[in-house]
Amino acid sequence: MAVLSRCSRAVTAATTPNAAAAKFSYLIRALSPFSSSSSSTFDADNGLNSRIKTAVLGTLKREPKDRNVQWVFLGCPGVGKGTYASRLSDLLGIPHIATGDLVRDELASSGPLSSQLKEIVNQGKLVSDEIIIDLLSKRLEAGEAKGESGFILDGFPRTVRQAEILEGVTDIDLVINLKLREEALLAKCLGRRICSECGGNYNVACIDIKAENGKPGMYMAPLPPPPQCASKLITRADDTEEVVKQRLRIYQAMTLPVEDFYRSRGKLLEFDLPGGVRESWPKLLHALNLEDEEDKQSAAA
Ligand code: AMP
Repeated sequence: MAVLSRCSRAVTAATTPNAAAAKFSYLIRALSPFSSSSSSTFDADNGLNSRIKTAVLGTLKREPKDRNVQWVFLGCPGVGKGTYASRLSDLLGIPHIATGDLVRDELASSGPLSSQLKEIVNQGKLVSDEIIIDLLSKRLEAGEAKGESGFILDGFPRTVRQAEILEGVTDIDLVINLKLREEALLAKCLGRRICSECGGNYNVACIDIKAENGKPGMYMAPLPPPPQCASKLITRADDTEEVVKQRLRIYQAMTLPVEDFYRSRGKLLEFDLPGGVRESWPKLLHALNLEDEEDKQSAAA
């Protein structure tokens, strides 16, 4: 435990990717018995490369307690990373770790970082790599103490430097790049509502884009909260029009290169969301070869 605490403290002061990676590695390695470093070959079949497929199938062969995939969700603000990562987390029994949630928890804690973070987040800017890695290290440490294994990361990495640090310490099996038409992203952020009690993510926006100039239309129904959450909904302070536009600009500048980082390593699964959750979820499961998992879960329920 002393090693872990030293690690978290020291990583805050790290200034180079290598230094940060060295401090981060103990925690990541502790959670990554399922890592491998074999090279990838492209499988034209369905766009998944064969190593990704092996990783997914490896997951299916394991008992739930042994599942420890290491996946990352990428995608613009408002695309639905949290929604799909959390559903997959429930399905596979793997922790969903959203760095945005870690930042918001820290903000709410009125700890030493709180006011500094508030200003950065409310302007739609990125928190420093050191702070994010420190928060993530602590979250992984807490998970490790509870016996967690593997992760579905949402919101990390968001810069090439963060991706290099992560790649330097562990092997990410799969990066799911969620994509949604730009017209829908702003509306989805503005319509987002969160249950202040359970943290559930809902959306009041009804997106109905008409077909135009050969482009198909798109309909996304609202995602209403269950009755027990309906009176506890809150809106994120950074989900205002001005801040969302800034976050989208920052995504283009800082995070788009992360897509290339993983694409060039054969780890990126591009997934165009065809509509709302009802339509997209089964297609995502199909792309991940996970349909049987859901059938098994439904049968057991
Ligand atoms: P999110 O919930 O993913 O939209 O994140 C909310 C805010 O937390 C972002 O706008 C950033 O200010 C901060 N944040 C979350 N993840 C990261 C990251 N990996 N790197 C830098 N800042 C982050």
